[in-house]
Amino acid sequence: MAYSSSLGYPRIGANREWKKALEAFWSGKIEEAELHAQLQDIRLNHLSNQRDKGIDLIPVNDFSYYDHVLDTAAMFGMIPERFEYNGGPVPVSVYFAMARGSKDATACEMTKWFNTNYHYIVPELGRITPVLTENKPLAAYREAKDKLGIEGKPVILGPLTFLKLSKGYAASETDAWLDRLLPLYVQVLKELEQEGVNWVQVDEPILVTKLSDTDVSRLQKIYQTLKAAAPGVKVMLQTYFEAVERYQEVTQLPVDGIGLDLVHGGAGNRQSIRDFGFPQDKVLGAGVIDGRGIWKASLREKLDLLNEITATVPSERLVIQSSCSLLHVPVTVQAETKLQPELLGALAFADEKLEEIVLLSKAVQSGASVISAELEKSEAAVTALKRSGERNRTDIQQAVAAVSAEPAQREAAFAKRLDVQQERWQLPILPTTTIGSFPQSAEVRKARQLWRKGEWNAEQYTNFIREQIDLWIQLQEEIGLDVLVHGEFERTDMVEFFGEKLAGFAFTQNGWVQSYGSRCVKPPIIFGDVAWEKPMTVKETAYAQSKTKLPVKGMLTGPITIMNWSFVRDDISREQIAYQLAYALRQEVEALESAGIGMIQVDEPAVREGLPLKEQDQKGYLEWAVKAFRLTTCTVQNSTQIHTHMCYCEFHDMIDSIIDMDADVISIETSRSHGELIQSFEENTYPLGIGLGVYDIHSPRVPDVEEMTRMIDRALRVLDPKLFWINPDCGLKTRGIGETVASLRNMVEATRLAREKY
Ligand code: GLN
Ligand code: ZN
Repeated sequence: MAYSSSLGYPRIGANREWKKALEAFWSGKIEEAELHAQLQDIRLNHLSNQRDKGIDLIPVNDFSYYDHVLDTAAMFGMIPERFEYNGGPVPVSVYFAMARGSKDATACEMTKWFNTNYHYIVPELGRITPVLTENKPLAAYREAKDKLGIEGKPVILGPLTFLKLSKGYAASETDAWLDRLLPLYVQVLKELEQEGVNWVQVDEPILVTKLSDTDVSRLQKIYQTLKAAAPGVKVMLQTYFEAVERYQEVTQLPVDGIGLDLVHGGAGNRQSIRDFGFPQDKVLGAGVIDGRGIWKASLREKLDLLNEITATVPSERLVIQSSCSLLHVPVTVQAETKLQPELLGALAFADEKLEEIVLLSKAVQSGASVISAELEKSEAAVTALKRSGERNRTDIQQAVAAVSAEPAQREAAFAKRLDVQQERWQLPILPTTTIGSFPQSAEVRKARQLWRKGEWNAEQYTNFIREQIDLWIQLQEEIGLDVLVHGEFERTDMVEFFGEKLAGFAFTQNGWVQSYGSRCVKPPIIFGDVAWEKPMTVKETAYAQSKTKLPVKGMLTGPITIMNWSFVRDDISREQIAYQLAYALRQEVEALESAGIGMIQVDEPAVREGLPLKEQDQKGYLEWAVKAFRLTTCTVQNSTQIHTHMCYCEFHDMIDSIIDMDADVISIETSRSHGELIQSFEENTYPLGIGLGVYDIHSPRVPDVEEMTRMIDRALRVLDPKLFWINPDCGLKTRGIGETVASLRNMVEATRLAREKY
């Protein structure tokens, strides 16, 4: 019997009910009891939905009030001392304060969950003694059983992953921490065993990253201890996002099942199964359905894959499942009514993926013929999209192939360009600029709504945008900035704006996924060959330039950022998609240049987000990511100045790649990195133009002149004043107008003082 299993279901609800409930509570619109009631409804609804779809192993405790890593920290009483907490089950007020900050204490750090766009709250171990505050998995199991008669499979974040994702301890203390944590895991498992729980899913995604011999010993200790303490519960050790490291040792751990991602890292995992076999005393959780992508599977291909696997692992020891939790995909395709049929037919979100899992498990159990109609249907859907005009733009494919074979080099080297540009622009030393966007006031958002709803015609909207540009050009001149921007008032979002204007993109009505906490994003879908059709930004930029003698910087989003913040097709490589985007954006760069715009910024805040988990893949990725940027920007004249911008990133291990991008000027978010960024310049020299943000834009606080002077002085201890620019950390669209103007005035004043010194 091949079971079907779900590894985790999206929390947000088909209509983002979850988000709405949380936000209603935070804003005081509903009481705590009402919050619990609403979230329970949502949770139970998700469970019965999975049961109705025919899933055998239904996850419980995958649900969360914010984030599952935070849940684990709260369950173990790891409440940093700055939050007021007196033991026992963690109150929601403390829980949310850790996630979002409170008036007395700053929030815990948040960071990316492996290579996804989901963000988790980083546990702080510090001086806390962990205790079990409540057995959450047990509570979730009981709830499913009592309310719905569902025999749930509790999901727990594994000890090694939990420890490795936490901060606030030295590497040498790892084992001591493990000794403190392990008894708590034991207690959780024992109680689950007493309750009669059958399967527990212990998530250990850290097993796909580099593991030392010590880590392997730790794993042995963890899983031996758990097995000895609670031999009656079956543990499915679940990995995902890549091929598991140390396959032979991991598969020998004393657990009852091993879950492998057979999509992302599928080749590596399959190779390991072929080379080393699979232990006969274990179940294989076969992650064959892509839990992160949005595409319908070819069931035929998946059955072929499962047939390959059943040569090693007989079907009675197979669990058919998604490659990872479905947290990373939208809930259901059903709400989509506006997509073209070839695309719509080829989409599968969480609910549709569960259906695929159930179909495959039926086929494995009783033969492919029992699903022959569905096999044909899935094949037809996949083929229809493959044959669609959007995926077969030979003009684009040929042009991109030709362009990406070129060296992607600016005509002259930086030193020469710097001279030519300096002669053209005559900028003062330490030039001042901003990152692109200015405050998107309620008025701006309102105007966009009126226009989208058709209450305003294009002319009314254009006039409104022009007034905003007029206002801000005037303000920027008054403030005394050297390089101006038009302000990005016409853009809601830096990816959506371009996606809507390029061919090959589609937008769902309801394809939301959780990014962090209650914040959801609706990524565009790159489903066809990407093509530039007409200028996207020239009108507004040229208008702004016509209003001032100072240079106005054009503003584009780079190819890698657009790709990393979209759902992408999986029939061609990400590298190819990046080059298509680069070729399209290059045409926009050229259009701006032809319209007289002499400085063009191509934002790439998301380069690091696409970094592969496996070290051996990182170099290759960075090479083609850099190449995509260069393809976008390399055809301009020497006198045209190319800027780029990155939000805070761990810079030290990427510095060579950033230099390789060969942008004339880069601006980087700095203040949140607490000096680490500056330090990386002590170890490396940066040979191109650079602006390290001199103030944090995430806070409404107006920084004073002294504070920015300190930032400038600190940066100029390691950077060349002749190459240094002065700018805020990032775009200002979330800030108020008053505080923005005040902060920029102080920035210009700090610059004036600095110019006297350098
Ligand atoms: N140009 C964009 C802005 O100013 C950059 C945003 C970003 O880096 N995320 O809003
Ligand atoms: Zn930024």
